[in-house]
Amino acid sequence: MGECPFCQIIQGKARAIIVLQNEDVIAINDINPQAPVHILFIPKRHYENVVDAMEQDGSVVERLFRAAIQYAKSSGLSDRGFRFVINCGRDGGQTVPHLHLHLLGDRQMTWPPG
Ligand code: AMP
Ligand code: ZN
Repeated sequence: MGECPFCQIIQGKARAIIVLQNEDVIAINDINPQAPVHILFIPKRHYENVVDAMEQDGSVVERLFRAAIQYAKSSGLSDRGFRFVINCGRDGGQTVPHLHLHLLGDRQMTWPPG
């Protein structure tokens, strides 16, 4: 996946601020943050979106949530609450075709989303 920006980061070919990493998940600060905390939890293996990931290995989605919840708890974010977002495909507003879970927090969220 040479052109994929997240694969480039995972392979160390592009820079990012890494906030957490384990065997199969990397978490980076979003380059265009929509909240004071805006972190992307990304599987190190390339899956185009959450549907593909579920079809190929559902446990990868669980591992993303586990890593993100671990971060939210250890950073104190889970006391006030936070938001998870997974955009999928064109109508979902997905702009990077490599599955990622957004963790947004440290401000009051509103509904409906845009
Ligand atoms: P989505 O619209 O759900 O596909 O989200 C893609 C997210 O990735 C956006 O919030 C972008 O700001 C973010 N993003 C794109 N390129 C980078 C990058 N090189 N480093 C960090 N975040 C990025
Ligand atoms: Zn990729």
